[in-house]
Amino acid sequence: MMAGPVVTRFAPSPTGYLHLGHARSAYEGWRAARAANGRFLVRLEDLDQARCRDDYAAAILDDLAWLGLHWDGAVRRQSEHLADYRAALDRLADIGLLYPCFCTRRDIRAEVARAGGAPQGELGAPYPGTCRGLAAAERERRLAAAADCAWRLDVAAALARTGPLEWIEEDATGGARRVAADPAALGDVVLARKEFPASYHLAVTVDDALQRVTLVTRGADLFTATAIHRLLQALLGLPVPHYRHHPLLTDSAGRRLAKRDNALTIRALRAAGHSPAAVLAMARGAQSSGR
Ligand code: GLU
Repeated sequence: MMAGPVVTRFAPSPTGYLHLGHARSAYEGWRAARAANGRFLVRLEDLDQARCRDDYAAAILDDLAWLGLHWDGAVRRQSEHLADYRAALDRLADIGLLYPCFCTRRDIRAEVARAGGAPQGELGAPYPGTCRGLAAAERERRLAAAADCAWRLDVAAALARTGPLEWIEEDATGGARRVAADPAALGDVVLARKEFPASYHLAVTVDDALQRVTLVTRGADLFTATAIHRLLQALLGLPVPHYRHHPLLTDSAGRRLAKRDNALTIRALRAAGHSPAAVLAMARGAQSSGR
């Protein structure tokens, strides 16, 4: 564990109401911090201005307080810290690890199919690298002309620079194991767009470091993404937190709870008369599955 007190965080995107699945993540972070006499932080991941809403942000904070998951210090809002993401992006560009990509989703699907049709997994097929090899002059010409483009990380070049990477995965019982990071599994991820300051991967990595988070608790669905975050930490010289990916909540048939199921928002459960303790018990879920 990194030196100093344990610092955990809950980082919801205010694109909807707090859901049982989020409450589970918040609870895990809160409990780990409280058990270690550490700090529990809340960060609103609100970069996607088209989808994020202030009333959702207010409702999320209200629901967390109602659940008794009180946080320490001020809430960090990503939309107020664009310069931090810009600085990280510039650094990656300076060491030659970013390239502009002009492919549409349709182009990518067609290229993937042409190259043998990798099956669309949970995270979709990795980007096939179409724009990685564009000649410098062509790149400049298209950059000037394009209304939009994505900035992708050249993962193979990045890995050649860092060498193999790993992180420490904790479990809820105090055990820990080393996990070999496989960032190539996600391909050359998008870190920003011409008109969009930072993707989830970039912002989350920068913020966890700036907020001195020592333990990241989040759902098992983000396990694969952690490899990219580990790579970004190595490239940007950032400290490496421990991780704890908790199982995802499932229904009685073993299906993952759907975010779109409005009956499972904390709002709805409150309105139905459940107590905070009862809702937390649901969030901790006897029924769960995952890594
Ligand atoms: N904003 C992300 C989400 O809501 C945060 C994930 C994370 O904890 O890193 O899924």
